[in-house]
Amino acid sequence: MGELQPRYPWMLTPDFLHALMQRDIPLRMEFVQSAATLSDLPEANTLELAFVGRSNVGKSSLLNFLAGQRQLARVSSTPGRTQLINYFSAEKDAFYLVDLPGYGYALSPREVQAHWEKELSRYFKDRPSLVGVLFLVDARRDVGEEDRALCDWFQSIGLKVLAVQTKCDKLNKSQWGSRRNEQAVALGLARENIISTSSDKKLGLQAMFAGMAGLFTSAMSDH
Ligand code: GDP
Repeated sequence: MGELQPRYPWMLTPDFLHALMQRDIPLRMEFVQSAATLSDLPEANTLELAFVGRSNVGKSSLLNFLAGQRQLARVSSTPGRTQLINYFSAEKDAFYLVDLPGYGYALSPREVQAHWEKELSRYFKDRPSLVGVLFLVDARRDVGEEDRALCDWFQSIGLKVLAVQTKCDKLNKSQWGSRRNEQAVALGLARENIISTSSDKKLGLQAMFAGMAGLFTSAMSDH
């Protein structure tokens, strides 16, 4: 593989990253905008992390949990409905969190899916401000080949990946460690690149912020 181009010239300060690493209270988050096509995205002058996962994995709930808000991101049990890229600003535009529809998973009608796959592939490859992907997996589900392929692909195009187990409250606490190991192995990730959360029980907030700070730090030190 050729030399990867630096994706972004913008940096977060060491002080900011240190504070994020330690943070254990929700982020100040605001909805910025929704985009139906890539031409509608906000200007790429703020670092961003993308949230990816199958519909119903608990993505909206996790965003609400990170924000300490009930209704920031919509929580819906209808799979595949939200075909929009939703931008949220964290800490007064220090960085963006980007909520993506069920990328890579055939949950919507075929033509819609094909269009979206193409658009989103372009987003992942070409978005200069994108640092990494938070790859959500239901803690109870087995990680499949499709998940692994997607995770490998993100890394092959120079994106950092942090896997986030959702709905850990559905497991016994004693199962957490082994389940985390299993899913890390299945995704081909190092043990420290997967974290356990429960939006319902409000578990894993500090680990999420430390993980996000780690993504920013390692991405910035690459360039
Ligand atoms: P999305 O489609 O990925 O945005 O998923 P949602 O956030 O809409 O959640 C899908 C379903 O999972 C909803 O019924 C949520 O209440 C439920 N859910 C989300 N997070 C958790 C969690 O941490 N624990 C449990 N037990 N259920 C959750």
